[in-house]
Amino acid sequence: MLYFRAITLSLGLLLSQVLMAHPDIIAHRGASGYLPEHTLEAATLAFAQGADYIEQDLVLSQDLVPVVLHDIHLDTVTDVALKFPSRKREDGRFYAFDFTLAELKTLKVHERTDQKGYPVFPYRYQGKGGFTIATFEEQIELITQLNRQFGKSIGLFPEIKSPAWHKQEGADITTIVFNLLRKYQLDDASKKIYVQCFDFSEIKRMRKKLGAKVKLVQLIGENNPNEPTDYEYLQTPEGLKKVAKFAQGIGPGIGQLVNLKKRRVKKLAKNAKEAGLLIYPYTFRRDALPAGISEVELLDILFKRVKVGGVFSDFPDSVVEYLQSDTVY
Ligand code: CA
Repeated sequence: MLYFRAITLSLGLLLSQVLMAHPDIIAHRGASGYLPEHTLEAATLAFAQGADYIEQDLVLSQDLVPVVLHDIHLDTVTDVALKFPSRKREDGRFYAFDFTLAELKTLKVHERTDQKGYPVFPYRYQGKGGFTIATFEEQIELITQLNRQFGKSIGLFPEIKSPAWHKQEGADITTIVFNLLRKYQLDDASKKIYVQCFDFSEIKRMRKKLGAKVKLVQLIGENNPNEPTDYEYLQTPEGLKKVAKFAQGIGPGIGQLVNLKKRRVKKLAKNAKEAGLLIYPYTFRRDALPAGISEVELLDILFKRVKVGGVFSDFPDSVVEYLQSDTVY
């Protein structure tokens, strides 16, 4: 009887842990609210702050090495214009793909600026620093080693950037990234990793042609003539069912999920859940909250009303603190 009681108790405990399992905190470009985005330092800080996953946006170097950068351009996060002034294209921009990894490694990474050189988030990191561009392999190694040493299992959340653009340039970024994932036994649905992409045809290609086993997230943007994907359609119940055939989750913008003025959850949330998809909205930024809404109120809406699977945050510590102090989790 006692034995039976013990089993019931532990089952109950297990069940409550599953039901109350806290949503995932995805460090958006590392702890980018504090240190220049996507650097190994920003990833290390995100790890220390208790993120569940650390994001890596991926583009290719000229010698086809996946490097961790948000844009195909280099000029708003590095000193490329000073070091290689003659290497811009006709549009005045500097492209990561025009530089070898050895060249990219000579650049200094700084806090993001606009194209005129003004900081996008003026209260973030203000130093000059000695930050450099990291490769995807360096980030995999860093997180693997920290996990081993701290007995943790913090995951990866790579995003394949602009596959159609890379293809135009003659490079198949997706195959190159998957070769790397397989080298590290990461193309595996049981591992703590999600691969994201905005391009739905590429998500389908990963699953069907490349035989991807890893969990996938379809990112949802705004329709735009330069993007091959129809995001309006993907947000319909029919579109979401199609997404669910290939991916485990969607990554919409917070504004696509919630009407923030009226504090009303949009249909997308319900429709996505009905299609069996997890929801990972972007981006929680403590220093750039939507007008008239507090940090706690926004997180309350996302976690208690939308019931997201997780949230992308530039400030992993803010979300850790919220989830620890809240009685719901
Ligand atoms: Ca991203």
